[in-house]
Amino acid sequence: MLNVKLPKVVDPRKLADREVQLAGVIPVSEMTELSSLLDNSSAEVIAELNFSRDQLRIRTIIGSAKATVAIQCQRCLEPVEVEILANINLAISYSEEKAKTLPSYYEPLVVEDDDLELLPLIEQELILNLPIVSYHSNCSIQTSFGDGNTAASIEAEKPNPFSVLASLKGKTDKK
Ligand SMILES: [Zn+2]
Repeated sequence: MLNVKLPKVVDPRKLADREVQLAGVIPVSEMTELSSLLDNSSAEVIAELNFSRDQLRIRTIIGSAKATVAIQCQRCLEPVEVEILANINLAISYSEEKAKTLPSYYEPLVVEDDDLELLPLIEQELILNLPIVSYHSNCSIQTSFGDGNTAASIEAEKPNPFSVLASLKGKTDKK
C-alpha cells in the first residue's frame, strides 16, 4: 500500500519531463505550522503528485493531499474530526513575471532553481483548505446557555425539584 515516503526535495522540471508520479504518506507531526492549527498531530497526510507537461508544454504538478485531522470544535472546545482535501493544480514557473503568462486555470508555483521542497508545498495546500469554522454536528456538551459555561449547563440538566415533587404528588394521589 501507500507507505512510501515522499522525497524531501525534488527537481520538479526534471520530474515533469519524465512524467513522474509520486505518492506517499507524511505524518502531520512533521508539518509544524499545520500542527499548530490542530487539536493533535497524530494524523497522516496522503499525498499524490503527478508531474507532467501539458499540451502547451507547460510543466505542471497535478494531484491531491488529504488528511483526517482533529480540530478544536468552536462550540464545545472538544476535538472534532474533519477531512482536509487539497486539490493541487500547479504550473511551474521560473519567476513571478513569467508566472503571469500562465493560463489562469493553474495556480502558479515559482521555482527559481532546480530544487523544490515538497513538504512545505503540501503543508501550505492543506492549510489553505482547512475549514474556516469547525463544529460537531451535535456537541456532546450542552452549551445552549451561550457562554460555554458547563457548570451552568449541568445544573440545568438536573430535574427541576418542583417537577419531582409534582410527580411524587401525582403518584400518591393515585393510591
Ligand atoms: Zn462540539
